[in-house]
Parts: sequence; C-alpha cells; structure tokens
Amino acid sequence: MAKKIIPKKTPMPEQPPGERVKNFNEVPYGYTAEQAMAEAQRCLQCAKPLCMTGCPVNVNITGFLKLVADGDFRGAINIVKETNSLPAITGRVCPQEQQCEIVCALAKRFEPVAIGRLERFVADWEAAQVDLPIPQLRTLTGKKVAVVGSGPAGLTVAADLAKMGHHVTVFEALHEAGGVLVYGIPEFRLPKAIVRREVEYVCSLEVKLVKDFVVGRSATVDELLEEYDAVFLGSGAGLPWFLKIPGENLSGVYSANEYLTRSNLMKAYRFPEYDTPIARGRRVITIGGGNVAIDASRTALRLGAEESIIVYRRSRDEMPARAEEIHHAEEEGVQLMLLTTPVAIHGNENGHVKELECIKNELGEPDASGRRRPVPIKGSNFRIPADIVVIAIGQSPSPLIPKTTADLKTGEDGVVTTDNETGKASKKGVFAGGDVATGGATVILAMGQGKKAAKAIDEYLKTGQW
Ligand code: SF4
Repeated sequence: MAKKIIPKKTPMPEQPPGERVKNFNEVPYGYTAEQAMAEAQRCLQCAKPLCMTGCPVNVNITGFLKLVADGDFRGAINIVKETNSLPAITGRVCPQEQQCEIVCALAKRFEPVAIGRLERFVADWEAAQVDLPIPQLRTLTGKKVAVVGSGPAGLTVAADLAKMGHHVTVFEALHEAGGVLVYGIPEFRLPKAIVRREVEYVCSLEVKLVKDFVVGRSATVDELLEEYDAVFLGSGAGLPWFLKIPGENLSGVYSANEYLTRSNLMKAYRFPEYDTPIARGRRVITIGGGNVAIDASRTALRLGAEESIIVYRRSRDEMPARAEEIHHAEEEGVQLMLLTTPVAIHGNENGHVKELECIKNELGEPDASGRRRPVPIKGSNFRIPADIVVIAIGQSPSPLIPKTTADLKTGEDGVVTTDNETGKASKKGVFAGGDVATGGATVILAMGQGKKAAKAIDEYLKTGQW
C-alpha cells in the first residue's frame, strides 16, 4: 500500500513584525476555511490518539479534527464545547506544543497537527455565524453556587455547573470579567472582544455575573456560605513578587502585574483618551523568563520603547515562556540578555530609575525545578542604562480571602490548600482551583482544575457528603 504523504503544517497568516509592533492588534489572523480543512486532513485519525492524553480538559481531538477535515464546522465546535467552554481562548493561549501537539503521532517525524489553531478556527467560525444555537440546560436542581473570580478556572466551573442545572453566581472584583485573561494577557495575543464573547457564552447558560464585588471586603466567604450551598475560589494570583534588591521603590519600576493591567485593562496605551497613564521609556528592561515577561517586553515596544530587553538568569533552554512567544518577541526586536541576574536598581537625582546593575551567571547543577541552577560569576557586575524596569518573576494569591475566612488553610506563598483530585479546600463547602490553588500555572491547567472541581461540587451538592 502506498504510504500516506504528509504535507507540511499549514502556516497561519499573521501581521508582519515591522507592522504589528506599531499596534496592539492580534498578531495571527487565523486560518481560512480552506486552510483549516487542509490542516485537519493531515491528521492520521490514530486508533489510539496520543494527542488526547495531552489535553488537560480532555477535548475529543480526533472527533473534532475529522469534522473540520470534512468541512462540518458546526459539528466540530459542538464536540469541542462538550468539554471546553472557552475554545477561542484556549486555541490562542494554550501551550499546545507542550501538551496535545508534543505527543501527536506526527510530531516525531513531521510537524504535529496544528490542533490549537484548529480549535481557534472552529470557535471563531461559530462566532461569525448569526444563528448561534441556544444552549440546552438540564433540569434545575435548586442548588446555588458562588464562584469567586471570573478567570479561566471560575468561568469553567461556572459553565460546567450551570450545564448540570445549578444556579451559579460569579463574583468579579474588577469592572470587567475575565481575570488574568483581560488584565494580564495583552490585546495582541488575546483580544478583549474574544474574552467578552466567551464570557457572554457562559452568561448565556444563565450564569449571573456580579462585577466590582471584592470577596473578602464586599462580603466574606463565610457570608457567601450563608446564602450559597458551595463556594468555589478561583480568584487567581494577583500579588506580584519582587526581587528584594535595592532600588525597587524607584519611580519607573513596575511589577508586570501593574504594567500589564495599566496597558491591557485600563487601556493606558490610549491615554489621554482613557484615564490611566503609563510611563513610556526609551529603554525598557523586563526581568523574568516566562510568558508574562515576554508580554511585558512586547507591550513596551508597542508603547514606543526603542529598546526592549529581557534579563533572565538562566539560559534560553530554561526559559519557561512558550517558544512561539519568544520567537514572536525576537522578531519584533526584543533582545534577550541571558545568564544575567539583577542585583540593584540605581536612580537619578529625581528618584527615577537610571540603571540596572546585574551580575553574569554560569549554569550549575539542576535545582528542584529540574532546570540548571544559575551560579553567579564573582566580580562580573555591570550596569545597563534603563528608563523603565518591569519585574516579571512570578506572583502569589492575594492574602485577602484566607485572612477573612475562618478555617481556610493555605500553604507556601499563600496558596489555598486543596485536594488535588476534587479541589476541596480545608473548609466544608469551599473548593478552589486555578492560580489561587497552584500559585500560577497555565490557563488550560486552571480550566482543568475547574472541570474537576465542578464534578466534585456537583457530587457534594447531590450527596451532602464532604
Ligand atoms: S495524535 Fe496527531 S495524528 Fe493522531 S489523532 Fe491526534 S492529532 Fe491526529
């Protein structure tokens, strides 16, 4: 029998680097219907599809790819939505290359099927249709669940519980729903309109959304438990870490959280049309090696920086950011200064940042994370001029909810202690998932935890067993 010829992965059209660096519009344009069908036809429809073992929310990948290949996009999106309520978001921001695509049967000898791009395609295809199907709800159970936070974990729990027939109210502290999806991820990677569309879908399942409501201030978890049968904490990790080096209080030093929130959520890039300003520097240095650092460095270029430099203490191989994001950033002109650790920030006479003092590293033995440890090279200190320094080294959950909730146990860095399989917290009726329970992971892992918690909450509501 003739061997099947596997064509190359279908490229996705995108804005050229020189153009996109001057605007905040989304970088890739997405597949056309013809491109999507061609890409889906590369799938081998494996009898034992390894791709599905790599998906934290168990999307029926072979099922939806088959329908895309046949041009049945309605059928394909319906399959995706059986397990994933936010496909336009996951299709854009999931690290597929480390999940479903890395284990794709084609990956060893060829390029894997572009599963994420196809997920995005079917979600966008559906949004473009005028005859959106009305979701079918199950019989109402009369049980009420409060979901704290409208990020990926909260939205997933809310959608799943609503589909199970429970009354769900989502409490969001900010004036816009989406959590990290709107305040953290820039417009050019995940347009706000896409998040709004997915939030609208969740609300179409009769989920009630209450904005500007800070749980821990507007009402405590204990007060919510008087009205609701269960509470899910999906309040994320919004407390930024700092380096604890001299000079971090100088003007012009931002946490990535503040820098990105100002730009993304408060639209500081359109100041004075919008109220929130943001400092714009000629030379912006971002410290960190994850996706947040990449987002901040690319944002700096769009805000007009002539130079945007990432300072990271290990080598490129250890950078936690997605390879595709690093590639996009470098294409746009972001420079990587690797094996470099900041030791102090120096200011000018007005108290504004002027220079970042760093030390060079070499790589030592692997540490607890499995990545090779950076070892400082004695006497290698040097200084880099800087107008703005953005610190993007991680974050933990806000202490507000644990402080105001009786008997809620937390672990290292204020992470809410939960059972891995069910999301049950230490307090009866309280569940948690996403960054508040992990300290910071990916959107899809947060959604995976949301799904597990929804099942466990449903079980608890039915049986009353804790
Ligand atoms: S592993 Fe790859 S080729 Fe096989 S079914 Fe999944 S996407 Fe298709």
